[in-house]
Amino acid sequence: MTDREDRSDDVPFPASGQRALVLFSGGQDSTVCLAWALDRFAAVETIGFDYGQRHRVELDQRPVIREALALMKPEWGRRLGADHVLPLPTLASISETSLTRDMAFEVAEGGLPNTFVPGRNLLFLTYAAALGWRRGLRTLVGGMCETDYSGYPDCRQATMTAMAGALSLGLDRPVTIETPLMWLTKADTWRLADSLGDTALTDLIVAETVTCYEGEMYQRHPWGRGCGQCPACVLRRKGWEEWRSARS
Ligand code: ZN
Repeated sequence: MTDREDRSDDVPFPASGQRALVLFSGGQDSTVCLAWALDRFAAVETIGFDYGQRHRVELDQRPVIREALALMKPEWGRRLGADHVLPLPTLASISETSLTRDMAFEVAEGGLPNTFVPGRNLLFLTYAAALGWRRGLRTLVGGMCETDYSGYPDCRQATMTAMAGALSLGLDRPVTIETPLMWLTKADTWRLADSLGDTALTDLIVAETVTCYEGEMYQRHPWGRGCGQCPACVLRRKGWEEWRSARS
C-alpha cells in the first residue's frame, strides 16, 4: 500500500499520517476511542484480540458497534475500514488471571487486581504495530488510562511513550500511540462520547458495550449492561452518575 500524500479527507487512500489503527475490544473505552479516531482520521481500521478471555461478549459486540458507528455519521461510515481479529492463545496459557480463568475477582499481592494480564498491552501494541506496518497505519489508538485505572503498569503514559519509542526503532519508521482517555475520568469519557456523537453515541455505549468483569450481558441499568457489583461496573456507574448530575 502506498501513501497518497496529495489526497484530501474522505478518500480511500489518505496519507499515512491520516490513517489510524484502533485497538478495539468492544468495551466502553475502546468504543469512545474508535469514535474519536473516526472524527479525526481519514481512514480508520480496527484490531481486536482473542486471547481466551473467559467472557467473549465483548468480542461478539465488536461488529455490532462498528456497524452502528458507521451508520451514525456519513463521514464515519466512509472512514471506517477493515477489522482484524488476531488469535492470541499464548496469552491465556501464560497468565493466571480472573479474565482468562474461572476465578473470582480480587486484589492480589502488590495491589494489582487479579484481572491483570501481565504485559497484555505491550503484546497488543506490538501486534498492532506489526499489522499497521504492513497496512501503512502508523498511528495506533488505545483506551489506556491513568486516571481511573486499576494500577495496571502497562496503561501508564510513561509505558506508552517508551513503547512508541521502541516500536519506532524496531520498525524503523515513526509509530505514534494516541491515548485520548489517558487523563480523563470515567465521567469525562462519557462527556467526550457526548461531544463526539451526542446521544446517539452515549445511547449506543449504554445499549451495546460491555465492560463487566463477570461478562454479564443481560442485566440492564441506566448506565449500561453488567452485574452492577464488580469493580468495572461500579466504576462505570459512578462515572455515568457524575456525568449525568453535572449535566442536569
Ligand atoms: Zn460487573
